[in-house]
Amino acid sequence: MTVRTRIAPSPTGDPHVGTAYVALFNMAFAHSQGGQFLLRIEDTDQARSTPESEKAILDALHWLGLDWDEGPDNGGDKGPYRQSERSDIYREHADQLLDSGHAFRCFCTSERLDELRKTQMDNKQQVGYDGHCMHLEQSEVDARVARGEPHVVRMQVPREEQCTFDDMLRGEISIDWAQIDLQILLKADGMPTYHLANVVDDHLMEISHVIRGEEWINSAPKHILLYEYFGWQAPVFCHLPLLRNVDKSKLSKRKNPTSILYYQRMGYLPEALLNYLGRMGWSMPDEREKFNLSEMLEAFDILRVSLGGPVFDVEKLSWLNGMWIRDELTDDQLADRMQEWALNRDTLMSFLPFARQRMETFSDLAPLGNYLVSGMLPISAENLKSAGMEEDQLLEVLQYALWRLESVQQWNRDNIFNALKAIAGAMEIKLKPFLAPLFIAIAGSSASISVMDSMNLLGADMSRARLRYAIDLLGGVGKKKLKKMEKAYQQLG
Ligand code: GLU
Repeated sequence: MTVRTRIAPSPTGDPHVGTAYVALFNMAFAHSQGGQFLLRIEDTDQARSTPESEKAILDALHWLGLDWDEGPDNGGDKGPYRQSERSDIYREHADQLLDSGHAFRCFCTSERLDELRKTQMDNKQQVGYDGHCMHLEQSEVDARVARGEPHVVRMQVPREEQCTFDDMLRGEISIDWAQIDLQILLKADGMPTYHLANVVDDHLMEISHVIRGEEWINSAPKHILLYEYFGWQAPVFCHLPLLRNVDKSKLSKRKNPTSILYYQRMGYLPEALLNYLGRMGWSMPDEREKFNLSEMLEAFDILRVSLGGPVFDVEKLSWLNGMWIRDELTDDQLADRMQEWALNRDTLMSFLPFARQRMETFSDLAPLGNYLVSGMLPISAENLKSAGMEEDQLLEVLQYALWRLESVQQWNRDNIFNALKAIAGAMEIKLKPFLAPLFIAIAGSSASISVMDSMNLLGADMSRARLRYAIDLLGGVGKKKLKKMEKAYQQLG
């Protein structure tokens, strides 16, 4: 058997360090077995998937030095490798399951499902579909389909006994079938859900080992059942431990930057970031901390992955990055890398149209543009307070602006401006005083170019990171206060 592994990111946001981590381990395992590693884009969630996100994910993984044998960019003979281009395949497979009685059409309205959910919650029952449409007469189903009544396709799932399967790292795992929902396979718009598309593709793309994050363990029974329904051999499953924040909670962008673009912007070396990801639950046989990709590939043994939640600690990453800079690069190489990073004409050209309005001599450039090539700025709580806002309101402005900006999908000046204007309006604060603390958080001083332009130049990740940093400088927001603020924010509309 040829070992084939895959990474299957959904292009619904920034390229996540967790995606790179799982990709690295998939690639390393395939390499250790003389197999192949492929990349598939899981973009069945049409509302949330964007081509920009797909491009950012591929670019970020390539930047890190990860490569795949087959994928949407380099092709292969099991394509297409983008699920949105495979709809017919999923529909045919859903039909097969309907014909064999392993799936059924469900016409329940969202009102009925909401009502059901509410009753189940009130009665402290397990929440899930109650099988209402499971026993409809075929003639009724046909008539309703012929009338064009909207419906989904759900899979049958046993209600008794357990699903038991083997995980490469965890051994035998058993989950009660009763806990598994009668999963929707095909949505009302004819698009498949993750579960159907994922299983069909893993089979058709001849994936032998599914190596993914542990958050998918509870999906495994559904997948195993689908393999059984189709009469296919299921792949070997391996669920990697989730990356954690320093406080051991699941890695989240609220506590840690999670986007690879942030690390790029900060000036981490891709080799060092990849090296650090390679240390997440895994170590070299000689326990050395610094190693490159080919050394890792040579020494990789998946059974040496340990399950204790690996902590993604930015301070440790920075320390490792420093070692890479000092030990691995000559001055010449370092100069090249820094030019590639940000000390180049593109950066200058993006900033000059704004800077020239404020320059008398060339040497004015450095103080004006310093913040563009910096990480977190050397500002203090006092600087932020100098914007003249009372402390509670200051925190609210920063936090609400951050939340609002987190939901901006396409990062550009207009969208940033509209987001900020909406929040200022809802808070009944004039735009100028509202923006004043943001100037300081983003650019270090209110004497900079427009804060919207600055954010646009800095990119979403660095902008949000600086707002988070400013909130921390003011002492942060405790859990209780955060809840209160979330409520108030929602009421702002
Ligand atoms: N599309 C899923 C994700 O976004 C893939 C999960 C899997 O590997 O099965 O992570």
